[in-house]
Amino acid sequence: MTDRPAPTTLHVVVVGCSGRMGRMLCRAAVDADGVLLAGATDRPGSPLLGQDAGVALGFGIDFGMPITDDPLPLFASAHAVLDFTTPAASVAHAELAAQARIVHVIGTTGFDDAQRARLAACARHATIIEAGNMSLGVNLLAAVVRRVAAALDATWDVEIVETHHRHKVDAPSGTALMFGEAAAAGRGVALREVRQSGRDGNTGPRPPGAIGFSAIRGGDVVGEHDVIFAGEGERVVLRHVATDRMIFARGAVKAALWGQDKGPGLYGMANVLGLA
Ligand code: NAD
Repeated sequence: MTDRPAPTTLHVVVVGCSGRMGRMLCRAAVDADGVLLAGATDRPGSPLLGQDAGVALGFGIDFGMPITDDPLPLFASAHAVLDFTTPAASVAHAELAAQARIVHVIGTTGFDDAQRARLAACARHATIIEAGNMSLGVNLLAAVVRRVAAALDATWDVEIVETHHRHKVDAPSGTALMFGEAAAAGRGVALREVRQSGRDGNTGPRPPGAIGFSAIRGGDVVGEHDVIFAGEGERVVLRHVATDRMIFARGAVKAALWGQDKGPGLYGMANVLGLA
């Protein structure tokens, strides 16, 4: 299939609009040049269903756009969907977005292997941009982690420590896994073979070459990640600190704009940012 021409105004649908990220995505879509917020959905049973998106999401004006739990009619007339919801919901959205041939930007984290396989199947027909973190800083740092891991031999232990707010449901975070994949790629190994997380009790010594993950949960922390390379007598610590969720939302809008003239496939933020 050939690439499509990009529309002059990008009509986007935000699914899961009542969520921490859903609200930010609506704000980013309204603020962005060349983008129109064309629809908003939330989960079945949400108290926001039927309310106007402009009023319910705090924009202070009536958008004439009731929040619905039926994405299908919205997808049929939109160019892109921004989706930071749950793994099950994002897989269902991917199947509908593929039928409608619209760009699907997925920020949701915590997919299992079967769900990832379903996303890959949808990407044979649709343009999907999926990333566990949509910020410029994290994607730049992932490229640095890969280079540092390639430069240091396996006597340097790699540990990834992440901190998030108390509501986060998956661990390690999607961002921590991105850094783990980057370190593993730098070393030329598969992450699934060296991944180690959740140490507790008499664990024995650290296996050589392991990439370790530790997750801290508490308060309202937006997201902090340290990638530690621990050697003999010295340590290198690469850190990213997110203080505002808008960095992820603006990244998602940028991805939707980037995807407009791309053919079907599963892309990441490294493609969007020219870092791949
Ligand atoms: P949240 O719980 O505040 O929001 C999730 C939203 O999804 C809720 O509004 C819920 O009603 C909605 N939802 C659930 N099922 C739905 C369905 N079937 N249809 C429509 N809406 C549905 O969570 P959050 O903090 O906003 O995070 C959402 C996801 O985004 C998580 O997986 C999180 O890890 C991820 N996240 C990714 C990035 C990134 O840059 N990629 C950044 C932050 C968060």
